[in-house]
Amino acid sequence: FAALLDQDPEIAGLLVSELDRQRTGLQLIASENQTSPAVLAAVGSTLSNKYAEGYPHARYYGGCSEVDKVEDLAIERAKKLFGADHANVQPHSGASANIAVYGAFTAPGDTVLAMSLDHGGHLTHGFKVSFSGKWFNAVHYGVDKDTEDIDYDQMEALAKEHRPTMICAGGSAIPRLIDFERIRAICDEVGAIMWIDAAHFIGLVAGKVIPSPVPYADVVSFTTHKVLRGPRGGAIVCKEEHGKKIDRAVFPMMQGGPLMHGVAGKAVNFAECMTPAYQAYAQQVVDNARVLAESLGEKGIRPITGGTDTHLSLHDLRGVGVTGVDAEARCDAAGIVLNKNAIPFDPEKPNVASGVRVGSPSLTTQGMGPEQMKVVADLIHRAVTEGDADPEHAVSQEVHAQVAELLTSYPAYPEPAAG
Ligand code: PLP
Repeated sequence: FAALLDQDPEIAGLLVSELDRQRTGLQLIASENQTSPAVLAAVGSTLSNKYAEGYPHARYYGGCSEVDKVEDLAIERAKKLFGADHANVQPHSGASANIAVYGAFTAPGDTVLAMSLDHGGHLTHGFKVSFSGKWFNAVHYGVDKDTEDIDYDQMEALAKEHRPTMICAGGSAIPRLIDFERIRAICDEVGAIMWIDAAHFIGLVAGKVIPSPVPYADVVSFTTHKVLRGPRGGAIVCKEEHGKKIDRAVFPMMQGGPLMHGVAGKAVNFAECMTPAYQAYAQQVVDNARVLAESLGEKGIRPITGGTDTHLSLHDLRGVGVTGVDAEARCDAAGIVLNKNAIPFDPEKPNVASGVRVGSPSLTTQGMGPEQMKVVADLIHRAVTEGDADPEHAVSQEVHAQVAELLTSYPAYPEPAAG
């Protein structure tokens, strides 16, 4: 850091102010976390200098002896962690991993059945502005109006009607467990590839606190930087029979050289995930999310589906008469970072939205437990219902002071103790 500070104080200053931002707010974005100093060291290493197109021991460049060992370790650890036949650790991101899944199993124009974006799916699941919606015939299922959980009957009916090449489940705002057994049965019935996009919840699978899709799915794609708490990136695990297809789809079909510093960070993270400390963290993530969802619900900020089984909850703000966009701005002004989110059957436009999404991973990493989640729910409720988008507003300032007070006991990236 000293070299950066000396050479480019402008960027160095922004790194410091971003760390300060992460330390001084309550980070409730469900897809974010605070990766370990060990992962950060791997990501900030000279492995960034190395070209390594291809796969370990079959590269298109010389000088790959050390990065081969790194990627071998990352692959072996991923396979062990998830009990998978095959792992590809090269995708640069979750979206890249998903492009590779399409590349491996479909041809342009094929029909793919996935969760609709406005019910909790992801852009890469056939949304019209994404490659997936432009190049494929995307058909979407949603949630049931009463339970607000995935409508498996609709999924089955659409699968029978459209005979998709691939069926995808998983998304960005799904608070409940996914019924992998049912989806496997639907895929078998229509001869479709079963693809689970586990980007959000794979960290809970790694911690063995929720069921794994790996025994059921043909292919599981995921990001490494959410609950999993690794470096920013993507990965894919699949059945042995699909391994070659997936590898070819990642490179050379979709990507060039892998980001070997990222692959090293993934290896470090996968090893962390196999420790008892990680498993305790994963359980705490779920416990905290449940208490946060319930506590907000008790204050009239209703959790969609009535609660959560995972790390996130989605809340309907109509009971307190505030839109998602206003709630996000009011919270932001008070040092609470969360995002507006459409709720199923939302009457508002996506950029206004009737809901917010909250997640527990970051605060759990900082050591918070259920008691702190109740305090956090109080602070969110106060900011949303009485606060203002102006950080100088009295309520914004009061809530911000309480946020700061809470964070003194649960700092992000705590300074090492002196001596
Ligand atoms: N899939 C799902 C379900 C996601 O939630 C996300 C990101 O939030 C992605 C894929 C894309 O990941 P990335 O942002 O790393 O491309």
